[in-house]
Amino acid sequence: MGTMTKGIFLKARECQSLGWMMRSGKVIITPTVGQKFRMNQGVEIHKRARCLYPAGLLLHVGKTVSAAEKTAHVMTSPGPPVIFEGTFSSGGLTARADMLEPEEEGWHLIEVKSGVNDKKEFIDGMAYTYLVMSLCGCKISRVSLMLLDRNFRLGMPDDSLFVEIDHTMDVLEKVKEFESCWQSLEESTRGPSMPEPSLRYECRGCDLFRDCVGKGVDNHIFDLPRLSESKFGGLLTSGITCIEGIPSGVSLTPPQERVKTCVQGRCTFIDKKGLKKELERIQWPAFYLDFEVLTTAIPLFQDAAPYARIPFQYSIHVCSKEFGCVIHCEYLADPTRDCRRELAERLVEDLKGEGSILVYTSYEKGIIKGLAEMFPDLKEKLDSLLDRIVDLKKIIESCVYYPGFHGGFSIKAVLPVLVPGMSYNHLQIKEGDTAMVTYVYMILGTYSPHEMKEKRQNLLEYCKQDTLAMVAVHKELLNLVKN
Ligand code: SF4
Repeated sequence: MGTMTKGIFLKARECQSLGWMMRSGKVIITPTVGQKFRMNQGVEIHKRARCLYPAGLLLHVGKTVSAAEKTAHVMTSPGPPVIFEGTFSSGGLTARADMLEPEEEGWHLIEVKSGVNDKKEFIDGMAYTYLVMSLCGCKISRVSLMLLDRNFRLGMPDDSLFVEIDHTMDVLEKVKEFESCWQSLEESTRGPSMPEPSLRYECRGCDLFRDCVGKGVDNHIFDLPRLSESKFGGLLTSGITCIEGIPSGVSLTPPQERVKTCVQGRCTFIDKKGLKKELERIQWPAFYLDFEVLTTAIPLFQDAAPYARIPFQYSIHVCSKEFGCVIHCEYLADPTRDCRRELAERLVEDLKGEGSILVYTSYEKGIIKGLAEMFPDLKEKLDSLLDRIVDLKKIIESCVYYPGFHGGFSIKAVLPVLVPGMSYNHLQIKEGDTAMVTYVYMILGTYSPHEMKEKRQNLLEYCKQDTLAMVAVHKELLNLVKN
């Protein structure tokens, strides 16, 4: 059994079975392409943060015991430097501190995060490190969080990249809570057998759900749209875990009630009148639009803020009424230069006309608004596109439900149900996160010329599939009204 790390401790607080599995090495979560990319970004952000303290000492990672001994040795040496990645171990718990700055009153603990938003969960992470350091007998003077500054722009010096927020009081409060539970968590995750898993609200986001408490349950109450923690708690207390078991009289929101009716009655919901009205609003020819967008912690383009949404690709299918004439146009930016202006101009050109612009979610609207803000001379033309936008997802949400949606309305959730046989399975790129990472690596010159050609093709095929899927879904919606 390994030692308790921060990640295990924080998960064990939510679920001791999960903490036990992580600690015993029984569960290895393989990160997705997008998660790996964000992890690498985190490594880069930490590197840049360390540059703010040129005299700091990076304690290289090694075995926990020797790393902890080395850290203790450096901390107790006369006139210690700022320490990066110091290791602490006590009572079966291990922690690594991003940065430790010596101060008169003790050590200033600094946790570095690669986001721009302060989050409650960061306090938990800092409190864990504080707790383990305290168990090792260290005196901590204050605790700060270092985040990315949303005012940073490419080309500015690295010291403008970060903002520091003092969280000492919040962390101290959380430490009190951890002091009362760490020993029992340490013991339960170290025991010879796994604590019995039990359904809780956190299971909803757990990667193991389908192999754990969700195993064999087809219509779990988690399929209820926007299920709140309190509603979940009420159902669980009554012993209800699947939608089939919800009795009448339980108060549900209208979308939840609809899901329940469809599941219990094994039927679909189609508001034909409402759907017909919505579909009749669509002007022909219909333009189906989908963007691919990148967001990076450290901006890749001048004037872009950390995590600014940069569109780099789009696909448009244009269909005449009855889908008689289908035109496809697409754009994929040259990764060697900033093509935002070119993309905006081409977009205006490719969407020229009178017909409705069909999108899936409000995301595309936001991208067009962003481009209009960036290029005031194109604003009028870009703004005029907004009036033509029709969101297919909204239409489905209000007028159609099939039990096979399992409470989801994303294109990936509705497509296999509404258009069986159409999927993303045959594609090299199957989701937006991979598309984004692929394009970022193209910008960074990661690929050989041969790979570049291949990746470019993969991106074009993926984005094209998104608009083709919208065409197919729209066709099916029209069929539902006809039948
Ligand atoms: S599905 Fe729930 S009970 Fe099972 S490991 Fe995950 S959080 Fe724990």
